[in-house]
Amino acid sequence: MTDVTVIGCGVSGLSSAIRLQEAGFSVGIVSRELPPHTTSDVAGAIWHPISAENLPNGLRWAAECREELLRLVDEPGSGVQMIQLLEPVEEGKEGERWQALLDDLRTVPEDELPLGYTGGFRYTVPLIETPIYMAYLVRRFQANGGEIQQALVSTLQKYTGADRLVVNCTGAWAGKLTGDSRVFPIRGQILRLPPQPQVTRAFMSHGGPLGFTYIFPRSQDCLLGGTSEAGSWSVRPNDATSAAIRGRCASVDRSLADAEVIDVRVGLRPGRDEVRLELEETASGPVIHNYGHSGIGHTLAWGCANDVARIARERFG
Ligand SMILES: Cc1cc2nc3c(=O)[nH]c(=O)nc-3n(C[C@H](O)[C@H](O)[C@H](O)COP(=O)(O)OP(=O)(O)OC[C@H]3O[C@@H](n4cnc5c(N)ncnc54)[C@H](O)[C@@H]3O)c2cc1C
Repeated sequence: MTDVTVIGCGVSGLSSAIRLQEAGFSVGIVSRELPPHTTSDVAGAIWHPISAENLPNGLRWAAECREELLRLVDEPGSGVQMIQLLEPVEEGKEGERWQALLDDLRTVPEDELPLGYTGGFRYTVPLIETPIYMAYLVRRFQANGGEIQQALVSTLQKYTGADRLVVNCTGAWAGKLTGDSRVFPIRGQILRLPPQPQVTRAFMSHGGPLGFTYIFPRSQDCLLGGTSEAGSWSVRPNDATSAAIRGRCASVDRSLADAEVIDVRVGLRPGRDEVRLELEETASGPVIHNYGHSGIGHTLAWGCANDVARIARERFG
């Protein structure tokens, strides 16, 4: 049985590690940050492949990931639920190709949309409650015999070898290990409110008067977002950003204007013009890279993990 070391314990690392175990490999994870302290823990996270159609395999990864998430809806303790989402769209914007993956897409009349929008959609998607889901992934990996070590990796060569495999899932920090100058952080800040029972549906806009705004009601809290600041490495919450997020969300739902905020969190999405998922035969041994999922890492994770396991099987026969 070939030994595999996965570097990184976010959603990409954990999903890859689990699929590799299921393919028969003996897998360990080494990571600087562990759940609940990774970018993946900060995320909303809704299954929404908005930019997936720009990636060569994006729609297939999103479809495969949706399939696993639908299975997890029925698995107690996974933190995955189905939720109805309202998405107003900019004037003149048509439906997108990825929407063909949905079962119940409907157009929404103007009088049910926030002010300034004339078109929009309503549909049901998986919502991943990350505080529950990331802990579930860790348990699933450990239950399969996997071990997690907390350590900063300064060079991949420390773990490579002719008969060993390294899987690089280091997200926004991948450039520091690989020299890949195409990776960059995309800062995202969110507000956590206590559960808001009056909010029963999710909301998300990517353009138009509200710009990038979302409201995700979850069982243990309600998330308000969002921001998308390319190039910023700052993980300190910004008060002006919080006020702007709150203002936009309150214009969608007035009940959110005065609700208590229990936490403000910041995560660094791994920006890249395309996901890097490929085998590299380095001088010291094989490395599969799986990073650069930008703002849709939770939407693609299981599809990418399937490819990591397939490449590993092909490489090691
Ligand atoms: C506010 C916000 C909202 C989001 N909403 C959504 C959403 O609704 N839907 C969606 O699909 N996606 C969403 N995303 C994007 C998604 O969270 C990311 O694409 C995804 O988390 C990336 O996962 P990852 O495992 O590749 O990276 P990460 O979660 O960042 O994990 C990287 C791991 O690598 C480790 N690491 C890095 N460098 C080293 C090193 N040198 N040595 C050891 N370990 C190292 C880190 O410590 C960490 O454990 C959102 C992100 C944010 C911030």
